[in-house]
Amino acid sequence: MTQAMQKIQDQFEVQKERCLSCAYCWKELPKVFKSHPVHTYAYVHNQPKTDLEKNLCQKVLETCPAQAIVKIT
Ligand code: SF4
Repeated sequence: MTQAMQKIQDQFEVQKERCLSCAYCWKELPKVFKSHPVHTYAYVHNQPKTDLEKNLCQKVLETCPAQAIVKIT
């Protein structure tokens, strides 16, 4: 599998038990991340579709202070 194909398949999720609700992810990439309306954690409401969104997601994953964002594929 090429690196480009790997990128296309990337999907992300937030491990809610680790999330600090710091707001970084949903402010940085609101198309993908949202704050849960009741609970204090972020979640993925739309998987990134474009390579640009996936690359931004990867950056947010690497910057999340709680290491709460993971790839699921
Ligand atoms: S950046 Fe990490 S800790 Fe902060 S709200 Fe998003 S998932 Fe939670």
